[in-house]
Amino acid sequence: MSCRYKGNSAPKPVTSYQKRVIKPVRPPTTNASHRHQRQPPPSLPPPPSLPPPHSLPPPPLRSSGAMETEEAVVMWKRSEDKKVRYTTFIGNGDSSAYKGITSLNDNQGPYGREHPVVKEECKNHVKKRIKTALTKLRNEYIVMEKTKAGKPKRTKPFNKILSDDNINHLQFYYGRAISRNVEGTTEAMRKDIMSTLLHLTSTDAHPKHDWCSESWCFWKKAVNEDTLKKAGKQNVSLISKPSHSIMKLQLTVNKDQYKELHSVYKRLSDDNLLSRCLKGKTQNPNESLHSRIWILCPKVVSVSKATVDFAVAQACLIYDKGYEKGCLCDALKIPKSCSMMDIQKKWDVRREQLQKSKPKRRRAQLADPHYASGAF
Ligand SMILES: [Zn+2]
Repeated sequence: MSCRYKGNSAPKPVTSYQKRVIKPVRPPTTNASHRHQRQPPPSLPPPPSLPPPHSLPPPPLRSSGAMETEEAVVMWKRSEDKKVRYTTFIGNGDSSAYKGITSLNDNQGPYGREHPVVKEECKNHVKKRIKTALTKLRNEYIVMEKTKAGKPKRTKPFNKILSDDNINHLQFYYGRAISRNVEGTTEAMRKDIMSTLLHLTSTDAHPKHDWCSESWCFWKKAVNEDTLKKAGKQNVSLISKPSHSIMKLQLTVNKDQYKELHSVYKRLSDDNLLSRCLKGKTQNPNESLHSRIWILCPKVVSVSKATVDFAVAQACLIYDKGYEKGCLCDALKIPKSCSMMDIQKKWDVRREQLQKSKPKRRRAQLADPHYASGAF
């Protein structure tokens, strides 16, 4: 038997642990007290020099409202140079953009006093006001009551009366009252709006249906002339009147609560406001064009002005001419494939169908069939 090592035991193999614990040799120190102090790290090479910052200053932070005003002023100022006069401004509420336009030329407006810019309300935005007002009333109207133990207690009585569902109904009725009286008179519109409140707060003891329409009011239907003739009666008091318990939506309020609701309706049926809704204008065409632009150039992605300009131009072409005629392939002399032409034709057919189709009456399904100012 052969052995390379002499002795009783062979030497132990060197493990990885033993390899790791081997410490590097420290440089000698002159002072013994500094032997255990940490040495400073070796100095790093200097970083490469960065390019100089952009020469233009960052754009100032402004609110979207201020930007809107500024853009509107630019548009109105240059309009006559483009042989156009914008005579109607469709906005919502106390639009700062409208104030900016009317304050031009020392408050004479962009075209002078002879050609004032008329402000019209967007009826969709006006409709939202009643929802806001009723929600605020529900949250802020507080009544102090006493508990059984005689302690004062704060309650919000409109919490049940003006539930979210009921407010949506009231908003729908308000909007329908405006839509039904487009190109009519403010008086008719105001009556139609107020009839919604009067009808919904009616009771058997105090029916308030004088301003209701026979087309939708169950009470008016019961007491109209035809019904009287069929029943062979001459007097309204002789016919049997329907009970208000059949109403699906009825607002049970006391005198004070009715006053609060009435003040909201009175404020939102003001002649000044309603006169701006008589043309039934909306901002839907603008929103439609904007959506076309932002589909091509999403807001969430930061792009250059050239890209935005291109998206606006392309959206305007599609908006005016359609997908087939507005395609840039012809102008750029790029041949269209058959599948591309088929797709564009399909999109144009769909586009024309959408333009002709009437808007969906989504809220009509929610409306109380026994009541609505034009819910039928
Ligand atoms: Zn009625």
